[in-house]
Amino acid sequence: MPRRGHAVGPPGCPPDLQHYEQRFSVRLSASKLTKQKGMLARADSAVAEHFRRRIREPARFDAFLAGRSSYASDTPCTRCGSSNRTVYCASCYACQTSRRPLQLTSTGTVAAWPPALRSRAGWLALCDERRRERSGERESCTFGPFTGTTTPTGKLSIDAPALGLRIPDLSRHPFDFIHNIVQRHPDLLEVLRWAGWT
Ligand SMILES: [Zn+2]
Repeated sequence: MPRRGHAVGPPGCPPDLQHYEQRFSVRLSASKLTKQKGMLARADSAVAEHFRRRIREPARFDAFLAGRSSYASDTPCTRCGSSNRTVYCASCYACQTSRRPLQLTSTGTVAAWPPALRSRAGWLALCDERRRERSGERESCTFGPFTGTTTPTGKLSIDAPALGLRIPDLSRHPFDFIHNIVQRHPDLLEVLRWAGWT
């Protein structure tokens, strides 16, 4: 029995639903259950019935109709053993997100690829930053006891041998931690200003 998709019923789209495929230029297959297909299924019971025949697991179909993104599968993941799978393609939810981790902002929301970088020039600029970082390009500046060093991709490390302080990547520390040091040593604020953090 196939783990993904479905082998029962006609594989193709029924003729009376083909106008959807042409109008929205999608394939009404169950291998990739997008939000758009979910909207079509909720709007037209014939589409929902077609997907019910094509989707093997009832739990995946229910989650699909309810607009959820994951469901409890009957088949545990062979890699991590979790039964939580994505509605979209029935792959393991945890493995799928850890293989390509979601980029989170400091507040925990998912950070999309910045629109300003969604271009060939933006991508090449990013590649250039990474290449310069690998080649060891650094800029540093000293204010009082603090020496700040920035890398081309924007990491900031702080060195203060007189205070016994060494922070390899300041962005990994919470705001309160940085705020506390700045309260005690205003020179660090100058470093942050120089690095463009304020
Ligand atoms: Zn897994």
